[in-house]
Formats: sequence, C-alpha cells, structure tokens
Amino acid sequence: MNSDTAGVIEQRAAAPTRAGQPLFGQGLFGEHLTDAADGIRAVLTDVVRPWAHEAERAGRFPRQVLAGLAAAGVIARRWPVGRDGDTGWGALLAIESGRLGFAGLSVGISLQVETVASILHRYGRTELLRGYLDGVRDGRLVGCLGASEAGGGSDLMSVTTTATRIPDGWQVRGEKKFLSLGRVADFALLLCRMDGDGAGGLGVVAVPAAALTVRKRLVKTGTQSLDTTWMDVACTVGEDAVVARPGLGLLAVTYGLTHERLSVAGQVVGCCEYAIDLAVSHLHNRRQFGRPLFECQALRIRIAELASRLTVLRYAVLAMAAGLFAPGGPGVREAAALKVTAARFAEECTSECMHVFGGAGYLEDETPLSRMWRDSRLARIGGGTDEMMWELVAGGLGGDGETYRAAVSLR
Ligand SMILES: Cc1cc2nc3c(=O)[nH]c(=O)nc-3n(C[C@H](O)[C@H](O)[C@H](O)COP(=O)(O)OP(=O)(O)OC[C@H]3O[C@@H](n4cnc5c(N)ncnc54)[C@H](O)[C@@H]3O)c2cc1C
Repeated sequence: MNSDTAGVIEQRAAAPTRAGQPLFGQGLFGEHLTDAADGIRAVLTDVVRPWAHEAERAGRFPRQVLAGLAAAGVIARRWPVGRDGDTGWGALLAIESGRLGFAGLSVGISLQVETVASILHRYGRTELLRGYLDGVRDGRLVGCLGASEAGGGSDLMSVTTTATRIPDGWQVRGEKKFLSLGRVADFALLLCRMDGDGAGGLGVVAVPAAALTVRKRLVKTGTQSLDTTWMDVACTVGEDAVVARPGLGLLAVTYGLTHERLSVAGQVVGCCEYAIDLAVSHLHNRRQFGRPLFECQALRIRIAELASRLTVLRYAVLAMAAGLFAPGGPGVREAAALKVTAARFAEECTSECMHVFGGAGYLEDETPLSRMWRDSRLARIGGGTDEMMWELVAGGLGGDGETYRAAVSLR
C-alpha cells in the first residue's frame, strides 16, 4: 500500500456517518427486536393458533385470524396511517407466523398484510381504495390479489381479463385461476387488460366480492387452510376502483409481490427454525443402538449444516427488511434472489427434519413435519416460480466489461 492509498483509506475511515453515529448505530439487531418478536408471537399464539387445525380440516381461511391480528394492532403497526410501512415489523410477523408450522395460515396472513396492503398503501389514491386499506388495517375487510389466469401465471403479459371503459367507469370480465382467500375476501385487486379510450396495457382494478363467482375450488397438495379458488369475474366499477392506471399494472403487482417474496423468505425462516427445533429435540430424546441419536455424527452434522444455512437466511431477511426499497438498497431483484433461495431451502430442510423422525415423521398424527414439508412446496411456486425469480436475478447480471478486460486476455 503506498502512502497515497493509505491516506485515502484513513480519510474514508474518519468520515463522519450520519448524525455522528457508527454505521449501525441504532442497531439492526438487539433487544428491541426480540421484544417485538416475543410480542408478535404472543398475539399469534392467542389469535391464530386456536384456528389452525380446524381451518386445515375445513379448507377455509378463518377471517377471525386477520380480525384478531388487527384488533391486537399488528396490522396497523405494519401500515401506520399517513406514514411509511414498517417492513421490519412485516419481516418479524412473517418469521413468527412461519413458526406456527401452518403455511396455509402464514401465507394467507402475508397475502393480506403484505401483498394487498402494500399495493393499496402505495397506489391507492381514491377514497374507495383508502377505505379498503383502512378496512384491512382494522380487520373489517379482507382482500386478495388475482394476477394469474389459466393461460398464464409466469407470463403475466398474457392476462386476458379485461377492464373495458364504459361511461363513468369500467366493465370487468374474465377469470382468475388461483385466487387465494378468494372465497373469504370482501374485495379483489385484479390485474386486467385495460381497454378503450386509448387506454392500453395492464392495470389493476379493485372489484367487490360480488363480482366473483366460484368456477372451481382447487384441490391442493398442501396449505389446506389457504383456500385457493378459480373464479369468474363480472362487474362494473367506477373510476375510483382503478388502483394502478393502464400501463402501471405490472409495476403495482410487482411491488406487492416483492413484499410477498420477502415475507415468504421470512416465513421459511420461522418454519425451518421450528422444524430444526423439533428435529434436534428428537435426536436428543430418541435412542437407537443404546445411545441418543444426537450422538450419531452423521445426523448431528446434517442438522448443523441446515442450521448454519438457516442462520444466514435469518440475517438476510432482517437486513433486507431494514433497507427494502431504500435508495441504493435491496429491491425487486434482491427480494427475488432471497425468495428463491429460501423456498428451495424450505423444501430440503423440512424434508430432512422429517427424515430424522424415521417413520413417525411420515405420520400425520405424530408430528407436524409431513404437513410442513408438503406446505413448503408452495414457496417455490407462489409469488413467482424459481425460474421467474432467477430470470429477475439474471436481468441484473450485466457483467462488468472494464473489470473483465483488466483481468482477462484470451489468446
Ligand atoms: C396454492 C396456490 C396459491 C396461489 N395463489 C395465487 C394468488 O393468490 N394470486 C395469484 O395471482 N396467483 C396465485 N397463484 C398462482 C401462482 O402465482 C402461479 O401458479 C405461478 O406464478 C406459476 O404460474 P403457472 O401456474 O401458470 O405456471 P406456468 O407459468 O405455466 O409455468 C410452468 C413451469 O414453467 C416454468 N417456466 C415458465 N416460463 C418459463 C421461462 N420463460 N423460463 C423457464 N421456465 C419457465 C415455470 O417456472 C414453471 O415451473 C397460486 C398458486 C398456487 C399453487
């Protein structure tokens, strides 16, 4: 290092950070975080857990869960009136709801509190739309998002549901194949092809529940408590129901899905922490060949390897939540990268934790792990599949020609 270089480094090191604080002066982690997590966990235990088994059995999402979270102030804290949303709070809610081990419920909560609420918060400018957000905030109303159709979920440009201009509003017609919470929702945000009056491209329109009729209730592999329904749409709505104007539909949906993707990663963290806790306790309790299974190095190391990757994931979720959409901070691509990495980890981790229980892991009434393993598979599909997440990541991989030219000279 020459003296010039050293001087530059010293100057930079001495440069004051904002308000004279060290870079992480307020702390990304600490007691305030554990206190908040404990508080959220207590509310979830109180208002969500009691519904879990019955909701799975009935295959219907219990609205009472959202009403209970709202009554405890959890949703208002995520989206304070007149202020920016608290993404850190959302991440903690995701982690703690994931720990319940019922992804049908945690995904339903996240659809409402992250996807729908974030779109309304960012794009809802009319009284009607602000009223919807107020209803979500105080637990009176449930919303859902309809982007995917039978003709396409990855390729949203193929959407065929139309919003056609009529005097004083829009006529909405079409179908949405995967409407999670569709049967319990009061309103739906629909990605539509906007048609007429020079309006082209995709927009998002809010329609009331009366606009939706069930075409088919979908029979799923897991997440039973998250009822997901194929629905026909037919209604007319006023001008004030347009959430994102023609041309901005994909942007608005992507904004909501980015919050959902971060939440999915958080739910994976909570779910896998729970799975690993169960697996570790079992390894200590279960004896084979005269000793606890934990003394088998192969099993211990396998779980330790999973726990190590989970540690990385937990810190990534919290750090991303601290800076999501901040200038220069993580955004759509980074959330996609995190979601796909988390989703694939969830499938592996729940499967391995189920495995250390041997036959009991496979039994529905002896451990929750088979349900958690089945449920975890949705994370690789919902909110965008693995391949779509990697496409988003690939879109940012421009390569750095200058670095390349400086380092590589092919002959
Ligand atoms: C339980 C459940 C709940 C859901 N809830 C909702 C909801 O509430 N709202 C909503 O709008 N949607 C919802 N979805 C839909 C979900 O977002 C879509 O299923 C998903 O985006 C995939 O779309 P698709 O099913 O049409 O598959 P396709 O788009 O047909 O994809 C099929 C396969 O091909 C791959 N693929 C597609 N294009 C490419 C490409 N260019 N390169 C490489 N691979 C590619 C995909 O990754 C996938 O593996 C839900 C789905 C499920 C299963």
